[in-house]
Formats: sequence, C-alpha cells, structure tokens
Amino acid sequence: MSTTTETNRSEVAEFLSQSPLKAFVGGKRVAAADGSTFTTRDPGTGLPLAEVSAMGAADIDQAVKVADKAYRTTGWPQMSPHERGVLLHRLADAVEQHKPILAEIEARDAGKILAQAEGDVQNFVDTVRYFVELSLQVPSRVPLAVSGHEAATVRHSWGPCGFIFPWNFPVLLIGWNIAPALAAGNTVVIKPAEDTPLSALYIAQLAQRAGIPDGVINVVTGYGETAGAALASHPGLKRMSFTGSPEIGRLVAEACGRNLTPVKLELGGKGAAVVFDDVDVDATADALTGAITFHTGQVCCDATRWLVHKSIYDRFVDSCVQKLNDVNVGYQLDSTTQMGPVVSAKQRDRVLGYLERAESEGTEHVLTGGAASIPGRDGFYVKPALLAGSLDSSAAREEIFGPVAYLASFDDERQAVEMVNDTDYGLANSVWSADMDRANRVAEQMVAGNSWINAHNVFPHGVPYAGINKSGMGGGVNSIETYLDYTRPLSVVRPL
Ligand code: NAD
Repeated sequence: MSTTTETNRSEVAEFLSQSPLKAFVGGKRVAAADGSTFTTRDPGTGLPLAEVSAMGAADIDQAVKVADKAYRTTGWPQMSPHERGVLLHRLADAVEQHKPILAEIEARDAGKILAQAEGDVQNFVDTVRYFVELSLQVPSRVPLAVSGHEAATVRHSWGPCGFIFPWNFPVLLIGWNIAPALAAGNTVVIKPAEDTPLSALYIAQLAQRAGIPDGVINVVTGYGETAGAALASHPGLKRMSFTGSPEIGRLVAEACGRNLTPVKLELGGKGAAVVFDDVDVDATADALTGAITFHTGQVCCDATRWLVHKSIYDRFVDSCVQKLNDVNVGYQLDSTTQMGPVVSAKQRDRVLGYLERAESEGTEHVLTGGAASIPGRDGFYVKPALLAGSLDSSAAREEIFGPVAYLASFDDERQAVEMVNDTDYGLANSVWSADMDRANRVAEQMVAGNSWINAHNVFPHGVPYAGINKSGMGGGVNSIETYLDYTRPLSVVRPL
C-alpha cells in the first residue's frame, strides 16, 4: 500500500514512515491479532497518510487486561499526587517540546490549520498541568463533622478507564479527558477516531519516554463498530468516557449500562447566539463568523443558530455575508488558509446533503455555500453557508457539523429565550449585548451546560464544560468535578 509522506518536518516523515502504525499497549507496539489495518488520510489532499492497525475484540480485551494489570502492579495508583505529578509534568514538557511535530501530525490527519493544531497541543499541555496542580490540592481524606460518630470520606482511584474520542479535536480532547483520570491514579485505554488516530499514538510514545509506567496509557486503534464497541462493552473497565455523536453515545451508554459501568457522555450540539440591538454589529458579526469557520465548523459547541434582534437583522446579515465571502478556504498547511477542509468525504457529503435538503424544504440560502475546489488539492473542501427561514427545518434543528449557520430574527427578550431553548440539544449558547443586566438574565435562563456572554467557545480551566439532554450526561470536563469523577469515594464511620 502506498502512503504519502510529503511533509515539512523530517520527524513527521519518520513517524509516518513506520506505517503500518501499530496500537500502543503495555508500552509495546502491537498489531491487530488478525493483521488488519485501515487507512488514515490527509483531508486536504484525500491521499493516504498511513496504514494503522484495526484492532478487534480480542485485541481490546487484551488492552483492558494490560491496563488492569498496570493498575495493580506498577504502583501508579499508590504514588502520591506529587510523585504522579512529576511524571505528568514530564509528559506535559515532552508534548510542549514536540509541539511543532505533534501539531503537524494533527493538522495533516484532522485537516486542521496549523495555528489551530498548535493551540490544541498547548491546551493539552496546560490541561495536564492544571490537573496535576488540582490533584495536589484535593485532599484524599476529608473528616466529616457528624454528631456521635467519627467519620471521614476517603478518595481512591477506580482502576482502568476507557475513553472513546471523535475526530474533531483529537489532541485537545485526549488531554481534557485523560489528564484528570491519570492525575487521580487511574490507568487508561484510549480509542481515537478512525479518521484521526495518529496524534494519540504519538502522545503514547512521548508518555513512555517521559517515564509514565508501561500500561498506564494504552492506545487502541480501529473502527468504531468493532474496536469502539468492544471497549464500550468491556466489563473490566471501571469508568467509561465517550465524546462523539448522540447516536453512538446511546449505543455506548447501553453497553455500559449492561455492565453497570459509570459512563460520561459528551455529545453534539445545536448552540444559539442571541444578538441584541445594542451590540457593535460588525464586531459581533466578526466574532460569530470567526466561530463558525473555526475548524470548518466542526465544533460541538458552535453557535449554529444566530438569533438576531429584528431592528439590526439586515445590517448584521450583510456584515456576515461580506465576512464569510472573504474567508480564504485552502489547504490546512498553507499559511494563508483561514478555513481548511472538513475531515472526510463522508463529512463533506453530510454538509452538502443538509444544504440540498434545506433547498427542498424551502429554506432561504442567504449565502449559498457548497463544495469548494482548491487547485492541485483533491481534498474535502466546502464554503461557508448561511440559511434562514422556518426554525422547524432540519438545518435549523439538527447538528450539521460544518461551516453553516441558520439565521432568524426575534422581537423581544422573552421570545429570544424561548427560541434558544426550543432544541433537543443543550450544550452551549451565547448572548451578545452591551447591557450586562440583560445579558446575565438571558444567559442564566438558557437550558444548557454553558452560557457565554459577548464571546463564544470559551474554555478557561476550572470552569466545568458539559452538555445536558441530547448533548450529554454524567458530568463534564475541565474542572474539579471531573477530577472528583475519577476518584471513588469511600465513607469510613465509627460510632463513638
Ligand atoms: P461518532 O459518534 O461517529 O464517533 C465517535 C467515536 O465513536 C469514534 O472513535 C468512533 O470510532 C466511535 N464509535 C463509532 N461507533 C461505535 C460503536 N458502535 N461503539 C463504540 N464506539 C463507536 O462521532 P464523530 O463523527 O467522530 O464526531 C462528531 C460528533 O462528536 C459530533 O456530534 C460532535 O458534536 C461530537 N463532539 C462532542 C464534543 C463535546 O465535548 N460535547 C466534543 C467534540 C465532538
């Protein structure tokens, strides 16, 4: 099988030249028992980047057993948070030192423009450091003031934990999810998406070099319906974390339910932005068009319903159209590119399918969008699109996961809140206004995990990020709650 190794960095070429790339289990590179592989492609060219092992159920079983053995034998859970912190800081250091390499691997595999990939790698580093610091501060034994008893809550780690990831933010989501689990003393089995397996494998190598004991971090590669399903249904896992679509999230939750494995689901979204009439119209249009084109709109918490006060609707729409027409769509590694490809032909067809369906449902195409062609690059490119019309249309209600926003106008605050909350999802919304009393009032009435004011896609460490309803369940990421999720509380009581 021929693979493309055209690259700017020799280290990236060297990594890709190891194709077929094997899974990483117990500190060793492991092929699928039946030798199967799958191809991961560069979305900007459509060409193969590497062959990667396609693990089956027996391989996944082995990986979970290795993670369990590492939990019992390496001393990882018994280490003090300081001792684990030393090794996790070394991992953060190694990832930071290799940022240009890892960012290029991520950019090529996920179709992400380089600056965004670099930001994601830095976010991984910052997240690991945040959870190390947190683990030093959270006491593992808390005395409880209970009359007539001596009582305490003691916190332990759980054991081997499973993680299934989507393709849109591979490095960043690995950091957000495994950092709290590792800092608390658990071992992990990671299943990256089949479209983007490369960065997880590279991180696993760096973790080994940083001195994390073998078997503490394992990466199993493969298809969702085989490797993913085998991991989700494995009875040896103590916790499961799934990030992806609501459809697959349901299957994962069902599988975990059969084993009574606690599961956390971080799912899709159909976020709204409410734009009041006292905003700087151009600046707000700039922020929202920036958000919808960021990673080509493949962002779960994006604002994809733009609800605009009727008195500024026309001006706002004109400004957005002008800005989106100016967006430079191109190959993700070209320095002038502002918006790269979507991740796959399947994802491009999904976006184009929604645009076609919108037309057949009578939706207004304010900005047509559609397929984009980039000279010399046979990748998966689309142009930004703006739709408007009935909020009952499929494009207004369903997650498209591309650079497409749906516009509607509102009369007053009460109607705006009703429109925001008229959705099956509940991930993140934003409100835009110069009146902070109004902005806070509206933000606090939104039925979702996150409300942002005069900003969209904001994730400071320490602020819980989670979805409700069709957007997820079981907690969130990026905060002390997540860290506590990865500790098992034990109450110890003695009557006096
Ligand atoms: P997906 O649900 O198709 O796949 C996600 C992962 O599940 C992949 O690793 C896949 O291999 C695996 N999988 C597929 N079938 C499986 C099965 N039967 N059992 C177990 N695992 C299986 O999602 P996607 O297309 O990769 O990602 C896009 C979705 O992810 C969007 O809905 C997006 O909103 C969501 N997302 C949510 C968040 C969040 O934090 N809430 C973050 C990023 C992405």
